[in-house]
Amino acid sequence: MTQLTNCRLAWFNGKFMPENQVLIPFRDRSWRYGDGVFDMTRTFNGRAFRLKEHIDRFYCSLLYLRLDPGMSPQEMIDVSEQIVARNEHLRGAAGDWWIGQRVSRGVDPIGDEVPEHSGPNVVVECTPLPLKARARQFRDGLDVWTPAQRRIAPDMLSPRAKTHNYLNMIVAEQSVKAHDPEGWAVLLDVNGNLAEGMGSNIFVVRGGTLYTPSERYVLAGISRQMTLDLARKLAIAAIEGDIDLFDAANAEEMFLTSTSLCIAGVRSFNGAKIGDGRAPGPITKRLTDAYIAAVGCDFVKQYLDRLADAT
Ligand code: PMP
Repeated sequence: MTQLTNCRLAWFNGKFMPENQVLIPFRDRSWRYGDGVFDMTRTFNGRAFRLKEHIDRFYCSLLYLRLDPGMSPQEMIDVSEQIVARNEHLRGAAGDWWIGQRVSRGVDPIGDEVPEHSGPNVVVECTPLPLKARARQFRDGLDVWTPAQRRIAPDMLSPRAKTHNYLNMIVAEQSVKAHDPEGWAVLLDVNGNLAEGMGSNIFVVRGGTLYTPSERYVLAGISRQMTLDLARKLAIAAIEGDIDLFDAANAEEMFLTSTSLCIAGVRSFNGAKIGDGRAPGPITKRLTDAYIAAVGCDFVKQYLDRLADAT
């Protein structure tokens, strides 16, 4: 019988092990250069959300970086599901998990020395979602700011790939956090249109229509796609394209989507109220309710239930 421990299990290069035994060499190219790829999904009541879509995106990022993890997408799905199953006894306190898959290019031979392990390092792991940390933002709405730094241009490094190099967004977020520690950065693209945040896509509602930046300039968020699918079902018109600061200033509603947030209403943009300043607005609320129904988990309640711990 498998022994249950109170240390989370991860999968590292073919083996399940306590996550504190996953040791990546300091010469790994991902640590040296950010030369790696990852993806993250979440569970709802312990069930992985759109795992196939996440793994498909993961393999697109891997191909873009010419990285071969040495296992098929189906094997990656199976291992991810195993990680959820083997950590299920620890989920109670966590509520739900973030599930991460990571591949780095590994260690280059240096001089004549042959590294102990050559080839990619592959990790599949899970961690608790930041439910408490974001509880107040779910109650009050998010404050979004556009930093001076632009999202990296697609012809420099494709923002459609989810790589281990987040420096563009980290530097941008730092300037926003210095000015509003609770604020969320959403970068503009090279043309001055809204792009994305460090871990989120943005939607704007104008004239009852939903707008979101096109995939050329952003990561194709799985929650973004889920939202577009729900909009179609609810007969809410949705357009993927350029959204400039004029559109943002005139937005009736705004929200961010991501694996962990799902849908989170924005109450202010660059210091100006969105609508009446009370997020979520009516269309955001309809989409949120449909999202909750589709995944069978009231993620808003899951956040709000942590309010007492957060204040
Ligand atoms: N953009 C970026 C840069 C991200 O890191 C993420 C998080 N994966 C997203 C958007 C949202 O994508 P998803 O809905 O798949 O979490």
